[in-house]
Amino acid sequence: MSQTPLLERNQTVFINGVWSSGTGHGKLTVTNPSTREAIAQIPTGGPQDVEAAAKAAANAFAAWKAQPSAKRAAYLMQFAAGLTKRFEALVHVQMLVSGKPKWEAEFDIGDAIATFEYYAGLAEDIDASQDDPVAHRGGDHIGRVRYEPIGPVGLIVPWNFPLVTSAWKIAPALAAGCTVVLKPSEVTPLIELVYADIALEIGLPEGVLNIVTGEADVGMAMTVAHEFRKVSFTGSNAVGAKVMQAVSDRCLPVALELGGKSPIIVTQDADFETALDAVIGGIFFNAGQICSATSRLIVHNSIEADFVEALIDRTHSYKVGCPFSPDVMMGPITARPQFDKIKSYFDHAKASGLNCITGGTTVDESEGNFLMPTIYRNVPHENRLWHEEVFGPVLATTTFDTDEEALSIANDTHYGLVGSVVCADPQRAETLCNGIVAGHIWLNTPQIVYPDSAWGGFKSSGIGRELGPSGLRAYQGLKHVTSPIA
Ligand code: NAD
Repeated sequence: MSQTPLLERNQTVFINGVWSSGTGHGKLTVTNPSTREAIAQIPTGGPQDVEAAAKAAANAFAAWKAQPSAKRAAYLMQFAAGLTKRFEALVHVQMLVSGKPKWEAEFDIGDAIATFEYYAGLAEDIDASQDDPVAHRGGDHIGRVRYEPIGPVGLIVPWNFPLVTSAWKIAPALAAGCTVVLKPSEVTPLIELVYADIALEIGLPEGVLNIVTGEADVGMAMTVAHEFRKVSFTGSNAVGAKVMQAVSDRCLPVALELGGKSPIIVTQDADFETALDAVIGGIFFNAGQICSATSRLIVHNSIEADFVEALIDRTHSYKVGCPFSPDVMMGPITARPQFDKIKSYFDHAKASGLNCITGGTTVDESEGNFLMPTIYRNVPHENRLWHEEVFGPVLATTTFDTDEEALSIANDTHYGLVGSVVCADPQRAETLCNGIVAGHIWLNTPQIVYPDSAWGGFKSSGIGRELGPSGLRAYQGLKHVTSPIA
């Protein structure tokens, strides 16, 4: 089936297997962050489309739930194949619209494919693993345990890893037997339309997957649609709180994947190269626009001077530029408001006399949202740069003397998404990893997230887990059946 390229779409709402231009007022402007030029003006969905999409998802639910799980698995494998077939085109869109260098864009598409393949594998076994028996005490009754799809679900995602954050929701939801309505971010509304293209191509039953583009009004409509049995949200804490509030009057389950201000601890016995890779990757990957950015470096006092010098050297060789130029490691900030927000942190740092050891500026003469990778040394812990999520390529450093002190500094935050430890001594490393209060820890490795791991935060970084078996359970309800022994 031939399809209009994503960048030329004039229909961006997909409900019950049908494309439309939606009922939203006005248009969404898609911008190239490397030039700030508008690439596309697209029609947008509105709250009415959410109502229609939620109804379509509700109508499709019973039949989708009744499909053998192996059949759902086969559809998921077709999603993976559909993405693979479009790999180059999707990489191009990620580079153009999100400003990701090619290696990062390829990484994203690969992640989405791997996620669909992984949940296809889990879906294969769902039917066979139902009805686990429970031998109740007393010998009069027997129980059996079932995991059933919770129903139609509303999925709201941000702009920093479009395609990936949505794959982490769509794949397990469909695997479980839920039907879905996806609301992509208004900043990057195009790439996720590919899921609708694939749905049509593979003959996914109508209403199983619906997409409504739009801004906050569409997001809000997603939180009040009565057909949804759960809302799964990835985004900022400010909006996450609104989502939680909106669903609370119906006591609806909500999953929240929110922000972070994550620590990376480097001990005095750490391998320098491993530590440099972990620190640089943890803050400059995707220009720091990652929820899991390890934006607080906590380095042992005895190696701080040498380590910081090496860090500055490495940062200077981290090439910033247009994603389509060769050897670029860091592209522009995806959205202009986010670029302005990061610049305001630079101003704050200057005003509060922070020691900027590299960066802290935009890229001279640039037409795009380019910022230099930035490091502030020995940042006081009460400074906003130390405790607020900047969501950009901005690292704040501090030192420690004892491991207790390192952990106390690491955990002195209301966030708890991830943490990293670089430490050679296995026992000490284990204590540090276990001591950080966060949902995912990397030890002696840059950040890598496998589909069969777990993703989600402690404290204010969220509610629930994505990926791995927990990601599937997020879309299943547990049912226990008790009956007399015949
Ligand atoms: P955001 O909260 O501004 O927007 C997220 C989504 O919510 C968008 O689709 C937006 O249109 C929608 N929305 C806006 N107002 C709404 C409302 N009132 N009700 C319902 N939906 C509404 O976040 P963003 O700027 O797109 O993304 C950046 C944030 O996302 C960062 O804080 C980052 O840490 C977080 N994030 C977290 C994870 C994770 O897995 N924990 C992953 C990626 C991003």
